[in-house]
Amino acid sequence: MSNAVSPDPTTRAAKIITRCRELARITDIPGETTRLFLSPATSDAHTLISWWMRQAGLESRTDDAGNLRAVRRSGKPDAPTLVLFSHIDTVPNAGAFDGPLGVLLGLAAIEELGATALPFHIELIAFAEEEGARFGFPFLSSLAVVGKLDAAMLDRKDKQGISVAEAIRSFGLDPTRIPETCPLAPSTFAAIEVHIEQGPVLEKEDASLAVVEAIVGQSRFELTFEGQANHAGTTPMALRHDALVAAAQWIVEVEQYAANYKQLVATVGRVDAYPGATNIVPAKVHATLDVRHPKDESRHAAVAHLLTKAESSATHRGVKVSAKAMAEQKAVNLDRTLTTALHRAAERAGFDAEPMFSGAGHDSMILAPHVPTTMLFVRSPRGLSHHPDENVREEDVEAALATLLNLLIHLHPHKISE
Ligand SMILES: [Zn+2]
Repeated sequence: MSNAVSPDPTTRAAKIITRCRELARITDIPGETTRLFLSPATSDAHTLISWWMRQAGLESRTDDAGNLRAVRRSGKPDAPTLVLFSHIDTVPNAGAFDGPLGVLLGLAAIEELGATALPFHIELIAFAEEEGARFGFPFLSSLAVVGKLDAAMLDRKDKQGISVAEAIRSFGLDPTRIPETCPLAPSTFAAIEVHIEQGPVLEKEDASLAVVEAIVGQSRFELTFEGQANHAGTTPMALRHDALVAAAQWIVEVEQYAANYKQLVATVGRVDAYPGATNIVPAKVHATLDVRHPKDESRHAAVAHLLTKAESSATHRGVKVSAKAMAEQKAVNLDRTLTTALHRAAERAGFDAEPMFSGAGHDSMILAPHVPTTMLFVRSPRGLSHHPDENVREEDVEAALATLLNLLIHLHPHKISE
């Protein structure tokens, strides 16, 4: 684990960073940061975060999907509720900030508010599962709080054959109570997630923050190129039906096409060639395609074009190609009023937070159809994430905290849509 120099925790941003690093030492695998959904390390993480919450005057509870939650009450009992959230599970061998930053920055904002009276309650939620690392299926926690965690999802099993429901039970919780203990308070009028960018855009623009206006849609396909295996020594070049060369030409075309459009990204992340021998012309190739764009029509157009390109690259060589859709996720627009309010809060706090879209999926896209939701991105030094060297700068964390505080102090619940 990279734990280079611990910042001096005398500033409020440094304290957040120190807490993230402290949390990163709570791991299922010693020597790295790996904290899977409802693992033993999650229990220790809950103990530590609950302790911090208590120091801030908050009593926490764990709902039956394993989310750790605490509410800062407004003076008015019937006030609406604003949710601050992010997740505390990690990918294997993770960094310290993907997820925990949003939770601990939310907690720091509540600490900073002190006795300041606000016309709304603030619920802080540390989601137990966002990454999908244990069950190969992400967003379990946010699906639970919007009432979308169904029986089939609860039956999904991890590599040890333990189901989601069993994992919940062995954590001392009751999956049958999810519909009672998990849903967001009906009075919830807004949800805000602070998260590291996990990409290089803010670094390139030399900016601390961005407000996220949309989360891109994704299409995933698996393509199969079928040619003809033959002897690599006796088959002349002109008489081959090489599935791998057909796939290779197409892969280059995917890169070239996507490079022409600013908001489009397209990736062939996996290629398997068969029979996979030095002296045999490749007969068959499986290749994945991942296409993302903030506008669904543009993504669909790109997919159609790229699948046609695969066809022409294959036909040219007497190779057949077929494509199977594996997953599709629509683009999600975050709440415009809330995003604008966050942008203004950043301005008032003295920072520029230009709108951008997120190329990665987040819990925010699960909440957004149910409650006005927005995200604040914090610069990722070197664009690095899902890596032990993932980092944040103290000045950027301070900018995020100042922005969030400014928003909380100026926010009028009735001005947010819904
Ligand atoms: Zn995350």
